[in-house]
Amino acid sequence: MKKWNLVIDVAKCFGCEACTVACHDEYYGNEFSGYAAPMAKHGQRWIDIMQRERGQYPMVEVVYLPVTCNHCDDAPCVKAAKDGAIAKRPDGIVIIDPVKAKGQRHLVDACPYGAIHWNEEQQLPQAWPFDAHLLDQGWTRTRGSQVCPTQAMRTVHADDEEMQRMVGDEKLEVLHPEYQTRPRVYYKNLDRFFKVFIGGSLAGELNGVTECVADARVTLQQGGRTVAETRSDAYGDFKFQGLEQNGGIYRIEITDARFASSSVEVELKESAYLGTIFLEKRSFAR
Ligand code: SF4
Ligand code: SF4
Repeated sequence: MKKWNLVIDVAKCFGCEACTVACHDEYYGNEFSGYAAPMAKHGQRWIDIMQRERGQYPMVEVVYLPVTCNHCDDAPCVKAAKDGAIAKRPDGIVIIDPVKAKGQRHLVDACPYGAIHWNEEQQLPQAWPFDAHLLDQGWTRTRGSQVCPTQAMRTVHADDEEMQRMVGDEKLEVLHPEYQTRPRVYYKNLDRFFKVFIGGSLAGELNGVTECVADARVTLQQGGRTVAETRSDAYGDFKFQGLEQNGGIYRIEITDARFASSSVEVELKESAYLGTIFLEKRSFAR
C-alpha cells in the first residue's frame, strides 16, 4: 500500500519560509472536521525553519532545516493519548483528533521532537496533520511542497519498499534516529546542518601577478590517511563538507604542478575557514 512521506533537501532550502506561511494560511481561522481545529494566530509554527550559521567571513554558510511532525510509524504520542485521541492512519499520517484530544495537555511532552503545540484558546494539542484533508480530496502534494520554490520539500507517495529504496539511493536520513520512532519525514544532505566544514582559498603568483589558483589538488588527511580529496574552484576556493564537530586534527595538503607543495594543520572544532593560502613558486634544481 502506498503511504505518504516528506523528503526535505537541506541543501536546497534557503529559508524563505513559504512552507511555514502556506501552513499558517491553511490552518489559521479554518476548521477541518476530523483533521484539525483552527491553528492559533501567534506562537505556533507547525512547519518551522531552524537556522544555523557556519564558517567565518568570507566563507560563511547559513543553513536552514525545516522541521515539523514526523508522522512517526512508532509514535510515542499515539501511545500517550487517551481515548485514541491520536491515531496512525493506514496511509502513514498521524492525526490528533481535535475533539478527543481536548484538554490532553500532557501530549505536548509526549513528542520527543517538540512537534506538538498547545493551543490555549482551544485547550488542544496540535501538530501539522500532513494536509491530510487535502490529500484525501485528491491533492498529490502538501501545501508546503506546492509552494516551495526550490523543490526542497517533496511529498512522496510510495509503498514502504519503494521508500526504503529511495532512502538508500538518495542517502536520506531522519532526525534523531536514536528516538526509534521511525519518522516518515526524511532529509537529504542533513550533514549540512549538523556537521562542519573546512575551507580555504588558494592564491599564487602567475604571469607576474597574484591570482586565485584554480584546479589545485587538495587532500584532507587525518592520522596519516587521506579521508577526502577535492580541487580548488575558479576562485581558488576549496571546501570539505560533512566533518564531525570537534573532529580532531586534520592536515590539508595542496599540490599543483605550478607551485611547491604546501600543507596546513588544523584542529577542527567548529566549521573553519583557513583564509588565503599563498603558494610558493616551484623551484627547479639545475
Ligand atoms: S513527531 Fe511527535 S507528534 Fe509527530 S508522530 Fe512523531 S511523536 Fe507524534
Ligand atoms: S518553502 Fe522550501 S525553500 Fe522555503 S523554507 Fe520551505 S522548504 Fe525551505
